[in-house]
Amino acid sequence: MDLKDRYDVLIVGSGPAGAGAARALHESGLDALIVERSKLPRYKMCSGILFPSSRKFIADHFGELPEDMLCSPKMIKGNRIKPTNDSPIMDTPFSLFDPGKDLEEEGLNVWRSDVDLWLCSQSDAAIIDECRFNSYRKEGQEYIINLNRSGKDIEVRTRYIVGADGTLSRVRRTAFPGFDEKVGQIHCYEEYYTGDIDLEPEWLYIFMDRSVTGYFATVSFKEDKIIVVTGVNQRESVKPYFKTFREHLEKWHGMVVSKTTSRHGIVLTDMSARRNYCLGKENILLTGEAGGFLRGGEGITSSLASGTAAGNAILESFNTGKLAIHSFNELAAEELSNCEKVHADLEAATGFNVFMRD
Ligand SMILES: Cc1cc2nc3c(=O)[nH]c(=O)nc-3n(C[C@H](O)[C@H](O)[C@H](O)COP(=O)(O)OP(=O)(O)OC[C@H]3O[C@@H](n4cnc5c(N)ncnc54)[C@H](O)[C@@H]3O)c2cc1C
Repeated sequence: MDLKDRYDVLIVGSGPAGAGAARALHESGLDALIVERSKLPRYKMCSGILFPSSRKFIADHFGELPEDMLCSPKMIKGNRIKPTNDSPIMDTPFSLFDPGKDLEEEGLNVWRSDVDLWLCSQSDAAIIDECRFNSYRKEGQEYIINLNRSGKDIEVRTRYIVGADGTLSRVRRTAFPGFDEKVGQIHCYEEYYTGDIDLEPEWLYIFMDRSVTGYFATVSFKEDKIIVVTGVNQRESVKPYFKTFREHLEKWHGMVVSKTTSRHGIVLTDMSARRNYCLGKENILLTGEAGGFLRGGEGITSSLASGTAAGNAILESFNTGKLAIHSFNELAAEELSNCEKVHADLEAATGFNVFMRD
């Protein structure tokens, strides 16, 4: 697809935050472009569970999710939490940490690569992959964007920028140099295995013992794969924790690995846990994890909701001539209070803030 010289809205990132913004702009008449640095469909390290609130948000705003996006086991019953290695596993339904009305009880097990692309395609925004946002400069009422598409630098003009580019957002770092010095990082690592383990695939297992993780470690299942994850704060090295966690699963949960089929790493931030949000300025809006939206460990609903708020704020700005950030501050407030509620509920249940463990 050829790039035009000018778009009304440039959305950086094709995750749920970008999809939410694009969907809110659907059929508005505004010319929107989503740029994604990876080749689509792209892998996103994530347990890939659509919590009941995500199911409802998607049904209400995007329509019915195609059945072939689900992987087995299709239904996830909730979280099974092990606060320490010695404590018994506690069954916790999603409803304990998932605010919203009229929600189903179960979550859906999905491939993020497929769902995110499907969500983005439910809008009339153009999507260009292997196209990285580098920087912007302002010229009058417009932003001149520097993109790198398959190794080549290009410039496009836009009136609005939506930063939906995840935890280490380049849009955030360009618009707010210095902000990230106050952002704590949680380094996460995962391995996919074939083999056996004596845990039930219909649950998301969360282990919190400090010997295996700096925030929480998880075991989940997709098709024939066992997915093991842990994360630690940036002062620590994640691999030794992962090794201890794997040994714990082998010793106490009968895990036998036949083959390691893939390995991934990702960074989460403590922005949401510390209420250290960064929502943007003027006509640059930061959504999803780029802005610090995260409901504890659940981020799909939060990204969809904040992306939708950004799209609606742009519509309002376009109609009234006011800067989009003013409407976005108002429209995003409900989702920020959902994030805060979940962090408070998690802290009350565990006795500590999982994103700020010593
Ligand atoms: C281990 C783990 C497990 C999780 N499990 C769950 C779960 O089961 N359920 C749940 O609801 N949430 C879960 N989350 C949280 C969830 O994955 C995130 O909150 C959510 O994906 C954030 O969406 P987003 O749209 O803000 O960012 P992302 O989904 O990260 O999308 C950002 C996109 O921007 C692109 N991008 C980045 N920089 C640029 C650039 N410069 N130019 C162009 N494109 C760029 C990236 O390639 C990416 O595709 C989990 C997170 C982790 C780390």
